[in-house]
Order: sequence, then structure tokens, then C-alpha cells
Amino acid sequence: MQNHRRSRREFMGLTGAGIAAAFGGPWAGILAAAEGQDADLVVLNAKVYTVDSSAPRAEAFAIRAGRFAAVGSSADMRAFIGKQTQTFDAKQMTIVPGFIDTHNHAPGNVLLYEVLVGNPYVVEFVTIDSIVEKLRARAAQTPPGTWVEGFFFDDTKVKDNRLINVHDLDKVSKDHPVAVHHRGGHTSFYNSKALEMADINKNTPNPPGGTFDRDANGELNGRVTDRATAVVNRVGKRRTFSPAETEQRNRDGLAYISKQFVRYGVTSVHHEGGDLFALQQVRARGDLLHRVSYEANGKVLDAMIAGGIETGFGDEWIRFGATSEHTVDGSFSERTMAMSVPYQDITPPYKGNITETQDVLNAWIERVHRAGIQPNCHANGDVAIDMTLTAFERAQKLAPRTDVRPKITHCTLINDDLIRRMKALNVVPAAFTSYAYYNSDKFHFYGQELMKRCMAYRTFLDAGIVAAAGSDFSPGPFDPRMAIQGMVTRTGWNGETWGANQRVSVDEALRINTLNGAYNSHEEALKGSITPGKLADFVVLSDDLHTVSEDKIKDLEIVRTVVGGKTVYQA
Ligand SMILES: [Zn+2]
Repeated sequence: MQNHRRSRREFMGLTGAGIAAAFGGPWAGILAAAEGQDADLVVLNAKVYTVDSSAPRAEAFAIRAGRFAAVGSSADMRAFIGKQTQTFDAKQMTIVPGFIDTHNHAPGNVLLYEVLVGNPYVVEFVTIDSIVEKLRARAAQTPPGTWVEGFFFDDTKVKDNRLINVHDLDKVSKDHPVAVHHRGGHTSFYNSKALEMADINKNTPNPPGGTFDRDANGELNGRVTDRATAVVNRVGKRRTFSPAETEQRNRDGLAYISKQFVRYGVTSVHHEGGDLFALQQVRARGDLLHRVSYEANGKVLDAMIAGGIETGFGDEWIRFGATSEHTVDGSFSERTMAMSVPYQDITPPYKGNITETQDVLNAWIERVHRAGIQPNCHANGDVAIDMTLTAFERAQKLAPRTDVRPKITHCTLINDDLIRRMKALNVVPAAFTSYAYYNSDKFHFYGQELMKRCMAYRTFLDAGIVAAAGSDFSPGPFDPRMAIQGMVTRTGWNGETWGANQRVSVDEALRINTLNGAYNSHEEALKGSITPGKLADFVVLSDDLHTVSEDKIKDLEIVRTVVGGKTVYQA
């Protein structure tokens, strides 16, 4: 596999060095286009923000064979219009590169087939009664003993202004195990039947890396965190499907979520695992509208290591990227991340959940690092980030490799020492983007002082760390407009501003959500900016995100999304 890596580096150096250096190389076709062959599509009269620092602004561009052939003024681009060329008059609308989300669970099946007890996409408050009603309806169609589950619950988007609990869920059913899963993915709420089936009572000790929460009287309240959820989730029956049904559901789920991504202008997504077979079939039938950096775990990761498949293998539609997030601690939004200081107002003192020992983490990272695979760990709290960096540093010392770009997913709570070590290793963080807007109601759990060091985009950029956008959908909405607004203002839906010191400019937020995402998967020579030779992935916006009021960025209309020169969404 060494040849593969070498050729990939050469390829990247080639486009990185500019189009002129490509003479006679693989870009000969594009050079020819630049010298006067007709384009497939020419876009004119636009306000183009290229995110290419050598030419940040343009009016027009030409596309040939799915790539940008030339970028410049409308007058210059007219030279590329021939008999077969389509033209698009943008009428001064704004065009930016396609958005790149570097952390997404792409839960198409959940969106399509499961009970959704919260709104996946926008801030919406629901009632506990509405949740109980939805789950009752599902229970009525479900045999006793089989799970009834609700997804996309958000504990701070509930009109009742309290946590859902075991008593609420006992109203759903006494014969079914019932679970409500927090959209953050680290905590769930269960009814009595589920806890009984798992043999958990108020005297059961907490397992390592998780908790069975109790109320003021010491009774189980139904909330279960991190590693303790596995104890409950393994009991009971779940609906089963034939292999053919499973394949069908996986294909339809992926096709469904692909449509949602491009509706929001997202043209490349880093998938946390998922059905690789279904992904290829959906692509073959023409329903894969976005590009995928596939982040492997479990059997697929084992197969990559056994078979010698390194990061970068694949093509411009489906490519193996980093590993899937290897979880080191708990959740930011659910208040279980591992911090060096205790959470406020919790007794006994609680500092979050570490879900992995340093030794196990060291061994896991060394194994993927030696296999030529970009390691990727989920680390939210400063304690977990420290452990992850320790394991990265150790692996690099044992087996030095160039341009690894170890990835930290979330990388939420940082300090000066962590930043210094991240810079030294060229760590690529995939931090929360939409949280600054969507989750501002949770920041008081941490307080203003800690929030100055959370989702620290300003600190990352100032230190020269190439931070990218990681929505973490389901936990966070993936809408890049909501993300950019939150990153620029640090003001949430409730009007509160937290960690204003971490604000970035509109241009910086744009770069984080595009080119830096491409860098995160070693694809910055291929996409992420509107640059001759790169893939023609772009988004047409109704208005200019630089000139609309900052609190209206999330309301800009996505007019059109184009991937590889082909329109995949139109308002
Ligand atoms: Zn995640």
C-alpha cells in the first residue's frame, strides 16, 4: 500500500502547486478546458466567495467534467460558452463552496422508521405528554416484551421544564421495555419494566464509566448514562428483519438522509460507520447526492487493518477517511464529559465519565496508527483530550509517520497546554458548530468561565490549528447556516451569549465549514474551495451571508445545491 500513499501525496502536491504545474499530468484535460474548450456549465453574475486565498472573490466560473475549469469575471467566463454549454445567470446571488460536515452519524434509518420525540433540524419545544402519546401509539403495534423507543429527545427542549422520568414512561406501558434516547447519544431514560428486565434496582452499584441515576429519595429515576446504558439495552426483544428487509431499509435510509444533506447545502459528510454495502448500492442507483468520507469501526476497521487498506483508499464519492470516533468520555450536551473540575451543583461531586482506560486507548491508537489509518477519538472534556493526546504522542514516537492529522472529534473544553500539544501533532479537531445557537440553553450548566474555553474556534485558528465543522448529527442539527450564525455571534436561540471570546468572522466560519473540512480528510487539493481543478461542489444562497444581519444568517435560503456540476437540490 506504500505506492498508493505515495501517489496520493504526489496528486495532492500537484493541485496544491497550482494548475500550471499540472502540465502533462492528470489535469491535462482541465488545462485544455482552460485554454478554450467549451464548458458544460457556466455560472455568471454571482457574488462568489471562493474560500481560495489566492483569489477570494469572483463573479463567475466555468465547469467541465464535474470540476471547476476556470474562475474569474463574467466577461472572461463567456469565452467558455459553446453550443452545448448550459449557462446560469445567478443575478447577483451569493455562491459558496459546498459545505463539509466532518462528524455526522447520518441516521437515515432512524429519521425514516423510528418514533421521533424531538425535532432533528431546528429548535422546537415539545411536551412530555406528546412524547408519552407517540410512544403509546407505537406500543399498541408492538408485541409485549419488545422495545418501544423514542429518538431525538432533548432534555432542555421540553415545555414541562423538567427531565422525563421512569414514572412518565411507565404510563407508556408496563408490559414493554420503553426507552427515550437523548439526541446526544450518551444518556437514555427507561421505564420500570426495562430496568426490571435488566435486574437493576436502587441498590445496584454504578458500573465503570456510567451511572444509574437516582432521585432525592435514592430511588431510580430512569436516567442512565454512558456505559451503564449497555446494561439495559441488551435485554428485551427488538423487531427483527430479514437480510433483504435490512438491506432495503439501509438503502432507503441513506437515500433519505442524502436528500436532507443537500437540502441544507451539505455536499460532503464524514459518516460514522454505517452500512458500506448499502452506501455503494445507493450510489450505483444514482441516489447518493453527497460525497462520503467513510469513518470505519468494528468489523470494517478490522478488515481495513487485515487487508492493508489505508486512509485515502476510495474515490471522490466514497473514500475511507479517519476511523470512526473512538469514545474516550461522555457528552457535552448531556453533561457527562470528563472534566478536571467538578460540575456545578451536583452532589456527590461529579466530574463526568471516562469511558476508556489510558492503556486500552494507547493500544487502540497504536494499532490503527501503525496500519496507516488516521486515528479519530471522541474527547469532549479536558481530561479526555489530555488522554487522547498522550496516546497520539506515544504512537507517533513508537512509529513516526508523516502528515497523520490525528483527529479529535468534539475537542470541546481546551486549555493552553492542550492547544500547544495539538499544534505540535497537527491535530484536526471536528468541533461542534450548531451548538452555539442550538444548545445555548445548556451552557449555564458549565458557566461563562468554562464556556470561554469550549468550542474554541477562535483559539484554534489563532494557534494555527485547522479546525473543521462537526455537527455530530443526531446530537447537533447539521444546518451550516445555523452553525455559521452561532460561530460568528456565539448567541443562542434564547438570546444568551456564551464565550464571546471564541467568535470568528463570517469568512473564517465559511472556511471552517468548507476547506478545513476537506483538510480534515486529506482532500483539500480535491475540494473545499472554488478553485480551478477542484470538484464543482457549490451552493447558491438567496442573499449574502456577509451583509445580512448576523442573526439572520440561519434564515438565508438555500436556492440550489450542486455536486460535481450537477444540481442535486433546487428550492
Ligand atoms: Zn458522534
